[in-house]
Amino acid sequence: MSSKTETQLLNRSVLISGAGSAGQSVGYWLRRYGFEPTVVERSPGPRKGGFAIDLRGAAVEVADRMGILEACRKAAVNMREIRRYNAEGEVIWQTDGNFGAGEGVAGDVEVLRDDLTDMLQESACEGVEYIFGDSIKSIAQDEDGVDVTFAHGAPRRFDLVIGADGLHSKVRELAFGPADQFKRPLGLYAGIFTIPNTLKLDRQWLMRQMPGKMISNIDYGPGKHTRGLLVFSSPPLDFDRGDLEAQKAILAKAFDGDTTWGVQTLLDGLRISTDLYFDEVTQIHMPRWSNGRVALIGDAASAPTLLTGQGTSLAVVEAYVLAGELKAADGDYQIAFARYEEQARPYAEQNQRILTDCPEMSVPATKEEVDRREERFRLLKDGSNAVDDDDSAGSFIQSAANAIRLKDYEKL
Ligand SMILES: Cc1cc2nc3c(=O)[nH]c(=O)nc-3n(C[C@H](O)[C@H](O)[C@H](O)COP(=O)(O)OP(=O)(O)OC[C@H]3O[C@@H](n4cnc5c(N)ncnc54)[C@H](O)[C@@H]3O)c2cc1C
Repeated sequence: MSSKTETQLLNRSVLISGAGSAGQSVGYWLRRYGFEPTVVERSPGPRKGGFAIDLRGAAVEVADRMGILEACRKAAVNMREIRRYNAEGEVIWQTDGNFGAGEGVAGDVEVLRDDLTDMLQESACEGVEYIFGDSIKSIAQDEDGVDVTFAHGAPRRFDLVIGADGLHSKVRELAFGPADQFKRPLGLYAGIFTIPNTLKLDRQWLMRQMPGKMISNIDYGPGKHTRGLLVFSSPPLDFDRGDLEAQKAILAKAFDGDTTWGVQTLLDGLRISTDLYFDEVTQIHMPRWSNGRVALIGDAASAPTLLTGQGTSLAVVEAYVLAGELKAADGDYQIAFARYEEQARPYAEQNQRILTDCPEMSVPATKEEVDRREERFRLLKDGSNAVDDDDSAGSFIQSAANAIRLKDYEKL
């Protein structure tokens, strides 16, 4: 492993906003290359919650280079069965849990988001300064650095700032302007939350699509969680991101009175859940990913939405490329940020196109569309790869997941 000496590297102190997969990964790589990263995270610890997430293609290679691939494979969720239901509670299609694995539909490695968060933190924490429970309030850059003020802590000066603070990035707002100009909302909202395993599932994923809606009840097995997913279409909603009960109420209202299969079990679970992750489903498209000494990665720069299953892969790959280019340019951020974007942007954009190019990945808008999809699944034999025909979602996802050639920055 090589790291530049203190005298060779410019711009060593780097503030990273957000300790998600993007922030933790870039912190890890910067430290490994001899920089001095500080991660500031709004939550009191790494933010938990969510389903199993997928690592695919180039992201698997990055996890390997980080030394966490084996641990990811060990912790990988080992699903037994996937079932699709209709409104009457009939199973219209089922397959084993590895549906499409290696073909791009399932991840090459599928690991609980919580487990990945822990693994990333363990590998990143040595030598990376963490500040939990705080967030950036203002940034002011000049020729030599960036002055940063925080909501709680004392002001500090850094050489560079990286926004890895997700869909509603504060760094993006401060350096590039209001979020609305960068959002491409799908007109959907999604809630993911831990529920009791009342259906006595064992590593099973039960799902259903309805007009403008989608639900899932997923059990990841003993010692892991059972989680619910509710997705619904809606015009833009105004809600308090800090108010869990208000978010629960929005979800409950969207499904109010629905007695068709599966809904009430999830609403009962939602009522007592304490870890709801609720958000709009939107992509982020930016005309550029850096502004002076500030750069963006992960969802903050190029969110593809949870419907693609590619958010975490994009985050770890973008983190790898950004840190690697900073190393290769000896910390010259102007060179590094330009090269980072040159390589990572086509990859991110191809992954974002998964949704527009593969309608199968989206939520059906009308009853006719739901009926068509159900009919199509009904005609398939159990276990057939329903979305992997002609314009197969599987092959499209896999080619997007591999649409970048990773440099070996250790050698540069
Ligand atoms: C709780 C949660 C659950 C999720 N569940 C799923 C899922 O089931 N499936 C899926 O495909 N995707 C899920 N996602 C999104 C997924 O994690 C990302 O698409 C992907 O991992 C890219 O990660 P990221 O680090 O760019 O963004 P994120 O994972 O969103 O991480 C951003 C981090 O920045 C922190 N942050 C935000 N604002 C500030 C601020 N102002 N100051 C400091 N810190 C800040 C957040 O607390 C968070 O830790 C979830 C995200 C979260 C936060």
